Amino acid sequence: MPELPEVEVTRRSFADRITGARILSVRLGRPLRWPLGRAPESLHGLSVLKVRRRGKYLLLQLDEGVLLMHLGMSGSLVFRPELPVPGPHDHFDLVTSQGVLRLHDPRRFGAVVWSAGADVDPAHKLLSTLGTEPLDDGFDPAAFHAGLKLRRAPIKQVLLAGDLVVGVGNIYASEALFMAGIRPTVRACRLSRPRADRLHAAIREVLCRAVERGGSTLRDFSSATGESGHFQLEAAVYGRAGQPCLRCGAPIRQIRQGQRSTFFCAQCQRG
Ligand code: ZN
Repeated sequence: MPELPEVEVTRRSFADRITGARILSVRLGRPLRWPLGRAPESLHGLSVLKVRRRGKYLLLQLDEGVLLMHLGMSGSLVFRPELPVPGPHDHFDLVTSQGVLRLHDPRRFGAVVWSAGADVDPAHKLLSTLGTEPLDDGFDPAAFHAGLKLRRAPIKQVLLAGDLVVGVGNIYASEALFMAGIRPTVRACRLSRPRADRLHAAIREVLCRAVERGGSTLRDFSSATGESGHFQLEAAVYGRAGQPCLRCGAPIRQIRQGQRSTFFCAQCQRG
């Protein structure tokens, strides 16, 4: 599943090139998770002013409203001067004066939704429950610790829930907790301020590193120029069950938490 770094890498790969482009036509494929919410031909002639990201949503600011795009479980975007005839898994084409933005999404949990603004529905409904952006200055250690104090669930699940800090998905939660030396099963409210600070720093570091390296090489992910990322090749714990911990040599353990796999080192992450 594309996580925050992949979405950010995707954004950077086409944001500058599509800025200022005029929409020439819109092609819809099979239904995605939510309907577009506006007749596709009514978007013709509008311009793309900028491309922002909020959590795992990309927001194409138009001169009339905003297009929210979500990659779902298996989506990827490409932006090229020209693209071949759409295949069976290409469900959205935004043909512009500067190239074609195409959503390829075999499982169709992705979405493209038009909203009159980011602060009115349907955008508001989708964005208003998101936690703090982990890469922004607003992600503050004291506020993070205060938020953890209010939550009794295991720390890994609090990170995944996304209402405290957004976009720390399954891979990056396991990696950040390893980096901070925190057991994924410990209750969030039990973390001391120094340990919460270490986790705060680790979340930032692991996400920044992933963005810099172009996002993970996940099954279905490729950035909008078609380059794959390389982060997962360097994961310390994720996907390494039974292999020796890079720090202490103990075998990495795999457990299930809330239907998701968690990887950790029982030696390096004792509590
Ligand atoms: Zn270890």
